[in-house]
Amino acid sequence: MFYQMKETILNDTTFYISNESVEKDFHLLTAALDSSKSGVVITDNQQPDNPIVFCNNAFEIMTGYSRSEVIGKNCRFLQGNDRNQDARFQLSHAIDNGKSCKVELRNYRKNGSLFWNELYMSPVVSNKNVITHFIGVQNDVTERKKAEVFLQKEKDILEKRIREKTNYLNETEEYLTAVIQGLQQGVLVLDKDLMVISANTFFYKTFSTNEDEVAGKLFFDLDENWHLPELRRTLEIVLPLNMPFENFEVDGEFSFIGKRSFLLSGRRIETTGIYSDRILLTIEDQTERKRKEMSKDDFLSIASHELKTPLTTLKGYMQIIELVLQNDANVQVKSLLQRSVSNIEKLNRLVVDLLDASKIQAGKVQLHFEEFDFDKMVSDCIENIQATTQTHRIKMEGETHLHYYGDLQRLEQVITNLLMNAIKYSPNSKEILVHLSLVSNFIKVSVTDHGVGIKQEDYKKIFERFYRVQTIQHKFPGMGIGLYISEQIIKNHHGTLWVESEEAKGSTFSFTLPLTSNQKEIQAIL
Ligand code: ADP
Repeated sequence: MFYQMKETILNDTTFYISNESVEKDFHLLTAALDSSKSGVVITDNQQPDNPIVFCNNAFEIMTGYSRSEVIGKNCRFLQGNDRNQDARFQLSHAIDNGKSCKVELRNYRKNGSLFWNELYMSPVVSNKNVITHFIGVQNDVTERKKAEVFLQKEKDILEKRIREKTNYLNETEEYLTAVIQGLQQGVLVLDKDLMVISANTFFYKTFSTNEDEVAGKLFFDLDENWHLPELRRTLEIVLPLNMPFENFEVDGEFSFIGKRSFLLSGRRIETTGIYSDRILLTIEDQTERKRKEMSKDDFLSIASHELKTPLTTLKGYMQIIELVLQNDANVQVKSLLQRSVSNIEKLNRLVVDLLDASKIQAGKVQLHFEEFDFDKMVSDCIENIQATTQTHRIKMEGETHLHYYGDLQRLEQVITNLLMNAIKYSPNSKEILVHLSLVSNFIKVSVTDHGVGIKQEDYKKIFERFYRVQTIQHKFPGMGIGLYISEQIIKNHHGTLWVESEEAKGSTFSFTLPLTSNQKEIQAIL
């Protein structure tokens, strides 16, 4: 029987056997080992080359070798030529030192196929403290090894993907940070309580501040110029109502940097997770642009003013010359005179428009209200413009039968401008239609041409000061202020001016003017 000799224990898994007992119970032992599912080999350490002296059934099944084929051999035959294995070196080392060990070896069956052998190897020590045998208990773990290899491969792939993803995210973060830091606009991220989470370099530079002075503070506390009730209301609804805003203008005397004009735009950062519920606030410094615009406006206003006086005088002189030479002048002189008058007229109109535009910009337009026959006003305009063109025919449809209370000259200016544009921008078509109607309690006037038309993206822009559609700029003369003035005039009458158009097909410019039961009330409103 096996038994332990406690007084000579070398380590936990070392067996202590008395030789006589092994002999005696050999058959019982063999039967027991044969019933084991694990392969068992016993080698005799006292014989040269440590040969196998026993193997059980499971070992035979696992390796494909019969007992008679393996007894007397050293276990190394199971490794074939695959000798250079770490596990083998560990095993040799343990045997040399009389230690037990557990290794996983690549072994080969009799038919040459590979199997992974999970081997527990323990020395058998006699009562004289001599290692007599080694017992190897082995299991075929090929399937587990395959699964492990498969899992390892999957793990490697996953780790590679994670590495790639992390690199990508890091690079993206670096890239986005560089973009935000490089922006020539102040950028702030606010939390739902409007507290500053972060800001970009441009913001710090613009406001002569730094991260310590800004992060964690309420936006409104950064400068008293932000303390505007309207701005607060606008910012407070960005997150709850997902309501972005653009170009909120703040002008003021800012600490450290002086008088400045800023445009603020804010929107919710559209993301989930930890970055949700944040506002991206951009702050654009428009001080310089405004200053330039103002000096341009000043220049235009002064220049047009200075031009107007000599022009009016010139116009007067030409009219006198026309009168004086009425009968005496020859045909050629008369025609030159007429052309001069009409060019002075054109020049005068341009100067008046420029002057108007700068007055409107400065909010200095005065309307002179009077009552007039609306339909007659329109037909007079048509008649005047018709007289200047031989290429186009202007047709009028509809009527209002109304006496309107408004600024006659300014409304004439609008209709004249729309008609002149219609002629100018439809060089290849003949007809222009003016349609007059009453819609609900509004007068509606539409001017339709079949000319070059306007792209939808330009619908709004053409009403801006000095804006001209780029594609046709060089083909048609103009300054880009006629529609700007017209829109302001209509707005001052509480009306609306808009365009519907299709490129290469034509345009319809329409405006509406509200009617009140008592037209004179309008003046009071204005
Ligand atoms: P201008 O005609 O002097 O350029 P406006 O302010 O009257 O200035 O018009 C602004 C721009 O709108 C024009 O430059 C032109 O591009 C476009 N536009 C105006 N009227 C028409 C029209 N009837 N058809 C096509 N484009 C037009």
